[in-house]
Amino acid sequence: MIHITLPDGSVRSYEADVTPMDVAKSISEGFARNVISAKFNGTTIETVTPLTTDGSLVLYTWNDSEGKTAFWHSSAHVLAQAIEELYPGVKLTIGPAIENGFYYDVDFGNISISEKDFKAIEDKMLEIARGKHEFKMRSATKAEALQLYKGNPYKTELIENLEDGTITFCDHATFTDLCRGGHIPNTGIIKAAKVLSVAGAYWRGNENNPQLTRVYGISFPKQKELTEYLELLEEAKKRDHRKLGKELELFTFSQKVGQGLPLWLPKGAALRERLENFLKAAQKKAGYEMVVTPHIGQKELYVTSGHYAKYGADSFQPISTPKDGEEFLLKPMNCPHHCEIYNNSQWSYKDLPKRYAEFGTVYRYEQSGELHGLTRVRGFTQDDAHLFCTPDQLDAEFKNVIDLVLYVFGSLGFENFTAQVSLRDPENPDKYIGSLENWEKAENAIMSATIDKGLNYTVKTGEAAFYGPKLDFMVKDALGRQWQLGTIQVDYNLPERFNLTYKGSDNELHRPVMIHRAPFGSMERFIAILLEHTAGNFPLWLMPTQAIILSISEKYEKYAEKVLNLLENDEIRALVDHRNETIGKKIREAEMQKHPYMIIIGEQEEKENKITVRQHGGEDLGMISIEDFSKIIKTEISKTLKSF
Ligand SMILES: [Zn+2]
Ligand SMILES: [Zn+2]
Repeated sequence: MIHITLPDGSVRSYEADVTPMDVAKSISEGFARNVISAKFNGTTIETVTPLTTDGSLVLYTWNDSEGKTAFWHSSAHVLAQAIEELYPGVKLTIGPAIENGFYYDVDFGNISISEKDFKAIEDKMLEIARGKHEFKMRSATKAEALQLYKGNPYKTELIENLEDGTITFCDHATFTDLCRGGHIPNTGIIKAAKVLSVAGAYWRGNENNPQLTRVYGISFPKQKELTEYLELLEEAKKRDHRKLGKELELFTFSQKVGQGLPLWLPKGAALRERLENFLKAAQKKAGYEMVVTPHIGQKELYVTSGHYAKYGADSFQPISTPKDGEEFLLKPMNCPHHCEIYNNSQWSYKDLPKRYAEFGTVYRYEQSGELHGLTRVRGFTQDDAHLFCTPDQLDAEFKNVIDLVLYVFGSLGFENFTAQVSLRDPENPDKYIGSLENWEKAENAIMSATIDKGLNYTVKTGEAAFYGPKLDFMVKDALGRQWQLGTIQVDYNLPERFNLTYKGSDNELHRPVMIHRAPFGSMERFIAILLEHTAGNFPLWLMPTQAIILSISEKYEKYAEKVLNLLENDEIRALVDHRNETIGKKIREAEMQKHPYMIIIGEQEEKENKITVRQHGGEDLGMISIEDFSKIIKTEISKTLKSF
């Protein structure tokens, strides 16, 4: 008999060679019908793999991310088979599951694949799926594997890099692929499949290698789920921040300036400025001090910080000067500069904490293929701050930072989030810098702050950086997509490397603890996420224009100007559309521009000294006084933007 421990802690006994599926059936037939993958002692296995030893078993359904991975990994095999049957002679390479679906990189030779071919591939996939073919793993020798892929240089290269004796194949129907395993029981579970797109991809991501065609797909256990997913994709396209950024004239890119270097247009710059001022005001109340540091620093600074050893080779290369041996780096992080600001004075424990904040622009070299709108760029501005405190102050500082992050989320309409706490791996204490005592203090501070603030949280043991534990905020946007926003990170490493000290109450020198924190992360990425979350309908306090004034004809221009002045006196951001266009056209364009309020002005309005107000995409507020309109705006703003 062997003993199998299940996730709820219960232990069940079975004859040796019991399979995960047998275990599932012994729990309940209904549950077993939904089980599609399994992990034994932390390793992904097949649901039909015989278990021969005691151990812990986790069974996954479609509702688990592990289940989805197995589902999409298996679907990639089906996609590959469909492609091979439709296009004999193509060379298959690799095809992993990804966050949403899967892809397969294929050398199609001279054939080019486009959208018109997708339907045939999908039909073929579903035809294969309906055969309910089981996925079966088997071992092969290196010689057998090389024989099977004779003429396919890609698979041959993969096999050459594998140890003989570790090579496995997966068979289903008439198809075989080189594979390490992790499949759903059979193809019949795949009820809906869609080829989403094709793109060029270099073999192994290297520009010097042949270009392949990457075929992206997704599949589901129910047709309904595919339909819903496609609707979501459609909505995501409409909200794509690159599209909205263009329509709302927020930012642009120029090939001449360089890839991944965003140019902020006046409206976008005004938006950033408002966000910055919002955070600056809150930070001021929280006791932060603003600092300013240059965009470059001596290479030596980053050698000291350790950044050069870690990222130097893959980043922008040092800038040399006419002076021999003098080298500077574009700033990849603000932290080393802030450490040197701390070092400018001698501090006593009574002076701490010091909280230095900077909207610091940093530069990181991203591969051109990785660049994406504002979410992956080569130059961006962090809403950075570094807090230097005593170990005993960590608890209070952490709580303050959490308050600030929650204030930011609340003011910007992010309501759905969880906290992710990354702690050290207690089995491997040597992996981490800093004393055990300090780590315990820091981890306790994070945990107690998280619990005290009533956050929904998950704990990731072993996910802490070598230099300290951290708390990340995972935010769900309006389309249910998850983004990591807001990081609070404890650091024992940089204070050591920069020899930061303070004088304690014992008159001895001690090391301060450093906290890195950025509620937005970067202005660029945050604005991209905010655009996609709100579809450009930002909270009213943040909108570039809160009201647009549209006159029915030129006759009422003067009155329009008067209304504008009155609104501006009330600190409402308004504009007059002076163009000689029909009112219908002006309204349509104001809708497109997402102006929250439209003020329509004609004869009646002028006579009664009132305005007619229409809300974006919604209600007609009718003819009201300017004072009442101001009140409406103020009330709406005060609902989202509270004082910190
Ligand atoms: Zn596989
Ligand atoms: Zn930092």
